[in-house]
Amino acid sequence: MRVRRLSLAHFRNYERLDIDLDPETTILFGDNAQGKSNLLEAIFYLAAMRSFRASGDRELLSWSVSDDPLAFTRIASRIERHGEPIDLEVVLREELRRGDGDAQSSVLTKRIKVNDVPRRAIDVIGTATAVMFSPQDLELVEGAPLLRRRYLDVTISQADRAYCRSLAQYNRVVLQRNHLLRAIRDRGAQPDQIHFWNRELIAAGSYIVSQRLATIKTLGDVSRRFYGDLSGGDDSLAVGYKSGVFHGEVDLAAAPDGIAAQFEARLADLQGREVKLGVSLVGPHRDDLTFHLGGHDVSAFGSRGQQRTVALALKLAEAEYLRRQTGERPIVLLDDVLSELDPTRRAQVLDSIEPGQQLLLTATDAETFRRAATRPVTWLRVSGGRVEQQRPASMAH
Ligand code: ATP
Ligand code: MG
Repeated sequence: MRVRRLSLAHFRNYERLDIDLDPETTILFGDNAQGKSNLLEAIFYLAAMRSFRASGDRELLSWSVSDDPLAFTRIASRIERHGEPIDLEVVLREELRRGDGDAQSSVLTKRIKVNDVPRRAIDVIGTATAVMFSPQDLELVEGAPLLRRRYLDVTISQADRAYCRSLAQYNRVVLQRNHLLRAIRDRGAQPDQIHFWNRELIAAGSYIVSQRLATIKTLGDVSRRFYGDLSGGDDSLAVGYKSGVFHGEVDLAAAPDGIAAQFEARLADLQGREVKLGVSLVGPHRDDLTFHLGGHDVSAFGSRGQQRTVALALKLAEAEYLRRQTGERPIVLLDDVLSELDPTRRAQVLDSIEPGQQLLLTATDAETFRRAATRPVTWLRVSGGRVEQQRPASMAH
């Protein structure tokens, strides 16, 4: 998987950008706040159809146009998937909608085209595959459960379209169901409607849980190997899954079946409490990944170094997982992450990237360049939302 051409319009601090990209290694360098991360964000958006950092798509519109009621931003690309060129384009556009009476409000629409044919986001995620690695990802182990669920969801969605659809469906069902739970509590709505929403919740939710469990088996094996390499031989990393559906930690070796039946039983147990609280208490939106080293929970007992190394191993495993699932190595995007690592780990991250795999990395310090530059590299200087091909002065021979 490669991105060969990228064009941006009104995307963050890029008013206009048109560049060809190296099929192998590109190093983006330049001072702070020039647009290095923004460029990686645009590439990652093509794969996930969402930002790796923005809380909403509106943030991506350039400030220069954000007061315009018809503002838009475009990310257009030529990618190469199994050697075949594909044009992939996303346009986010403010459009006016008539609300109540004469009031107009603007909504942000997302229009996607693949080879010029309009497509829905849900059918396009994973057309490009990419792994984004930024310093926040080093917080994956000790951070909030939401980060770990997102890690799983972004990873699996790129490889499995049915997962992506189930997830969208599931999230809608949770909202509707919560609404109903509160209506039962506050307005004495009929409780029998809940059976319909339970069935919907169980259908989408069971598929999500089963795919997560299958994925964690692969990710667990691969990240144990990476953790062993990174830590100098500790092969005890165990990645697990904790789910309210199963009253906690799931025994992955036992290949749990009957997820739907378990889910149903739990919903029956919890219905009283759910109505009282007005929220759905059990299901994949509440689940979590777990990590153990030598049997001890890494998020509770691991040193900071161990936690970061586990996170690193997981990220490397993500790329390998996508390769196995899609038959092709994903684009690897490393945002500032090398400078956060010691030289051994830095070398290991770079060594895990196969020659021929596309890598784009950003850095501000020359030392990180030197390691990466043992392979043929295209240097891009990023400055004020512009990009030009240029070697950094410190690398001149
Ligand atoms: P660093 O080395 O500090 O990580 P960077 O080169 O990665 O810097 P970016 O995160 O890409 O910098 O941000 C570049 C600039 O883009 C910042 O000055 C930021 O304020 C600006 N910016 C962010 N969002 C928008 C937007 N929607 N419109 C215009 N500019 C924006
Ligand atoms: Mg940055």
